[in-house]
Amino acid sequence: MDAKIVLLGAPGSGKGTQAKRLCQELGLTLISTGDLLREAVRNNTPLGVKAKGYMDAGKLVPDELVIGLIKEKLSGLKGGFLLDGFPRNLEQAKMLDTIANINMAINLDVDEQIIVDRIVKRRSCKQCNEVYHLEAKPTKVADVCDKCGGELYQRTDDSEPVVRERLRVYKERTLPLTKFYQDRGILINVDGQGEIDEVFERILKAVKEFKH
Ligand code: AMP
Repeated sequence: MDAKIVLLGAPGSGKGTQAKRLCQELGLTLISTGDLLREAVRNNTPLGVKAKGYMDAGKLVPDELVIGLIKEKLSGLKGGFLLDGFPRNLEQAKMLDTIANINMAINLDVDEQIIVDRIVKRRSCKQCNEVYHLEAKPTKVADVCDKCGGELYQRTDDSEPVVRERLRVYKERTLPLTKFYQDRGILINVDGQGEIDEVFERILKAVKEFKH
């Protein structure tokens, strides 16, 4: 059976980094709503113009905009996939049920203080979206992406006040999804603390041991 995975976790829990690695390892298509929305903002598309204010304030973008994006990406998609950053609330999870048969939800668990540190020191590549951390995952040359040579920047929503708001929204709207998928018997909880490689091995082990 193709893996159809939802990756849950607070902002800064390492979702984006682990999502990329897991997709490479398992040959899955990665769909990251955050990356897609940032690209839309950068390209000033109608979606980007509508989404920008919500994103800069650390709020969720309205469901109808994000759902449209997901429907477009999933339609006609062959094989397994991993959703990073979607669903973010119960309404999105219920809509997802109508278009895909999710068979695994991985939740990355990380302490809140560690999250704030991770996000505030996070830097992202403008060109390829690769994510770095000033201390835990620095680039070889300051401010230059190791992978594509693109320029690094700090996401506008990675400043401390916006991070606090994103965490508040996460706890209120997204955290309840762990129960939603647990009740269905497909939730895998993984300790997201520690080195990137260490967390990746934990996730991989949990996925391989998971019985549908
Ligand atoms: P992320 O990169 O996943 O942290 O997402 C960055 C921002 O994009 C979030 O703070 C939201 O403003 C927006 N966003 C990403 N995914 C969703 C979603 N599924 N629903 C609503 N807003 C989203």
